[in-house]
Amino acid sequence: MITKRLLPFLALCATLAAAQTSPAIAIRAGLLIDPETGTATPNQTIVVQAGKVVAIGANPTVPAGAEMIDLSKQSVLPGLVDAHNHLALTYKKDPENNVYYLTYVMDSTAIRAVQAVSNGITMLNSGFTMVRDLGNNGNYADTALRQAIDQGWIPGPTVINSGLIIGGFGGQFFPTPEHANLVYPEYLDADTPDEIVKAVRKNVLFGAKVIKIMVDAKPYGYTVDEMKLFISEAAKSGMKVAGHVQTPAGASRAVEAGLWSIEHSTALDDEVHKAMAAKGIWRVGTETPYTGYNAQTEAGFARVVAGLKNAYANHVKMAFSTDADYFIPGMTRGEVVIDFLKSWKAAGIPAPAILKIMTVNGYEVCDLKDKRGPLKVGLPADIIAVNGNPLENIDALRNVPFVMKDGIVFKRDGVMTPAKFFNSGPVNGWRIR
Ligand SMILES: [Zn+2]
Repeated sequence: MITKRLLPFLALCATLAAAQTSPAIAIRAGLLIDPETGTATPNQTIVVQAGKVVAIGANPTVPAGAEMIDLSKQSVLPGLVDAHNHLALTYKKDPENNVYYLTYVMDSTAIRAVQAVSNGITMLNSGFTMVRDLGNNGNYADTALRQAIDQGWIPGPTVINSGLIIGGFGGQFFPTPEHANLVYPEYLDADTPDEIVKAVRKNVLFGAKVIKIMVDAKPYGYTVDEMKLFISEAAKSGMKVAGHVQTPAGASRAVEAGLWSIEHSTALDDEVHKAMAAKGIWRVGTETPYTGYNAQTEAGFARVVAGLKNAYANHVKMAFSTDADYFIPGMTRGEVVIDFLKSWKAAGIPAPAILKIMTVNGYEVCDLKDKRGPLKVGLPADIIAVNGNPLENIDALRNVPFVMKDGIVFKRDGVMTPAKFFNSGPVNGWRIR
């Protein structure tokens, strides 16, 4: 006998069953771009069902009743990646005027999680279907964001989050003795081998997907052996270690230890680039084109561009990564991020290489390459479309009129249509972590 109490549950089951058997979608692509090979194939059709790509070709079998989406005048490609952002952080004003603590003191973790939702939606709106979020999230607002997206409550990019940033005593900054606690919970102290193991485990337990450490923000930065301990402890949970690096000495220790990625590029010179290329260490450079933000000057921008050029010439593995955690009036987070194309173009890097860096390299540095990202049969359907051909003109990526994430259309004809995401349920099963 079905009791009244069971009825809502049965209704939920019916909704989920409907979602799983929802009609296929067939996308007609004028040009299908493969960022891996830098090629474009005309007149292809992509068939999507139950959130995944099930067929790609000139004339694949399209299930009866499939919804047709006509992108025959556009270029279709897999979604973009920002490999270094902080979605739960937006400085109250220009960081040059010392605003870190204002954010920590004035914004609760709860409001930062809400802010992260907003920033994530704008990222998706700009074509970024994957974001590596590297800390500064209050007390794990990043995990809350990722869970909300994974469980289908809200639209947003796939988030690879770091949880709390682990560093030596005092985190990244230099508080006074009276206010040392202002750096917590943004930073997690780990000053001894035991504390390193415990800190990694704490982040794993509370939902991190990558471990972020401060290599050299203090004179007592991590040694090579300490970083190796981070790497081995993180590996037990299948995670990689990303290191914030800001000094040449820290950079060479990070390379010797074999970190997965070096975050930021100010300390990376020709010698370090050569060593990174030899060891296959990711360069997650955060090359801001904005002057007046993050203490960036005209001379600083010139150094950024020279660094990009040198890294590209040395065949360093590079990611498109922004560290865009500030507010620029009139621009969304997604618009600020795509504007970083300025830096890459200024470095003279060819459009096909930039596109590969923003896609294929992004999936790799997120450690998801075989699971999500590329437009391949069997993988989640994270698909965007642009006018023009980004292999010829990378600025085509500045306007993304079509976005699909996990097989659900988020934006069409330039208009966001996020309704289907709300309470849509998880594509890959319920998970609580
Ligand atoms: Zn950052």
